[in-house]
Amino acid sequence: MKLYEYEGKQLFRKYGIPVPPGMVASSIEEAVTAAQNLGLPVVLKAQVLVGGRGKAGGIVKAETLDEVRAKASRLLGSEIRGVPVNKLLVEKAVNIEKELYLSITMDRVSARPIILASAMGGVDIEEIAKEHPEAIVKRPIDPLVGLKSYESRIIAYKLGISKDHFSTFARLLQGLYKLFVDYDAELAEINPLAITDQGLLALDSKVIVDDNSLYRHGELLTGETRAERGEMTEYEEKAAELGLAYVELDGNIGIIGNGAGLTMATMDMVSYYGGRPADFLDLGGAASHERVYKATKFLMEHPGVDVLFINIFGGITRCDEVAKGIVEAVKEVGLKKPMVVKLVGTNEEIGWKILEEVGIKVFKDMEAAAQLAVKLASGKEG
Ligand code: GDP
Ligand code: MN
Repeated sequence: MKLYEYEGKQLFRKYGIPVPPGMVASSIEEAVTAAQNLGLPVVLKAQVLVGGRGKAGGIVKAETLDEVRAKASRLLGSEIRGVPVNKLLVEKAVNIEKELYLSITMDRVSARPIILASAMGGVDIEEIAKEHPEAIVKRPIDPLVGLKSYESRIIAYKLGISKDHFSTFARLLQGLYKLFVDYDAELAEINPLAITDQGLLALDSKVIVDDNSLYRHGELLTGETRAERGEMTEYEEKAAELGLAYVELDGNIGIIGNGAGLTMATMDMVSYYGGRPADFLDLGGAASHERVYKATKFLMEHPGVDVLFINIFGGITRCDEVAKGIVEAVKEVGLKKPMVVKLVGTNEEIGWKILEEVGIKVFKDMEAAAQLAVKLASGKEG
């Protein structure tokens, strides 16, 4: 789960990472009050979970209260990269001397947390990596030993940070590392980490918490749903509640497979024959009839799906269970949309019989099935 900048900064404060004084505002009046309390000038920052807000006009400076009013009213209710702005972070503006980049993420190669830092902050790390890979300092951390202060000093030195800021930097990095570990983060990023006339300040925050760990970070889950945060679509959230592994796409062929590999191969084949997948939905291993029922019903009721394509290879999964689940869903919601089923493997003959009894034709060949699904879906999209 991605945290908003203001949520990330609350964690930064808790871990001793210096941030400018700031307040969250959901209305123009709140923004004005915040500016009065903080003192002018302030920076108004759109709280949306997308990157590059600055370039998209989501970060603006206001020198007077009238400007705060005008700019807050322009930002609130507008969209930044398609995401509506409901909240602003009003922060006391600072004078930036230099912008650095600092983050901790998980490194798959060393299988350790890794510190990434650069003296070229402000811009996206992807851009720095492409144009100036040599400008990125990388340092994996041994999780058993933790981050040692000499390591922070090496990084500070490589970033060209002046000696006066070494100890603040070391404390800040230690805090960021602790936060990263405590919150099971996939990413804890400060971009920019600014050198200002008031010392080092984290001007932005990007924290992503591993979804699998959310059960132990309940305090992060207050308030908005994941869909409201713009992190999931409404249907992705519904699917998550049903326990289905589902990613919504913008085509019109609803796909159900078992196993991520087969599901992706199904999507590829649909695309190959000129169709457009409406989703990725993986039933996983040993799918029960309830699970198949839920998935089938879910896509039958999805307004964006014109044709259903169910592609199952029964290994541990039994074809009779799958067929039972499909029939349960069809009996409940009806065959509102054409459905193409390819079903082979364990207990296939029983499965075929169950489906044929309710008039569902079963394919044994994936290519023929994909071609038919594409044919049925063509011309339906509009
Ligand atoms: P992002 O574009 O979504 O990454 O948003 P950031 O929070 O990183 O802001 C983008 C840029 O706005 C930063 O790189 C800074 O140059 C500038 N900025 C952000 N906060 C302040 C501030 O308090 N004072 C000043 N002067 N500039 C700021
Ligand atoms: Mn940023």
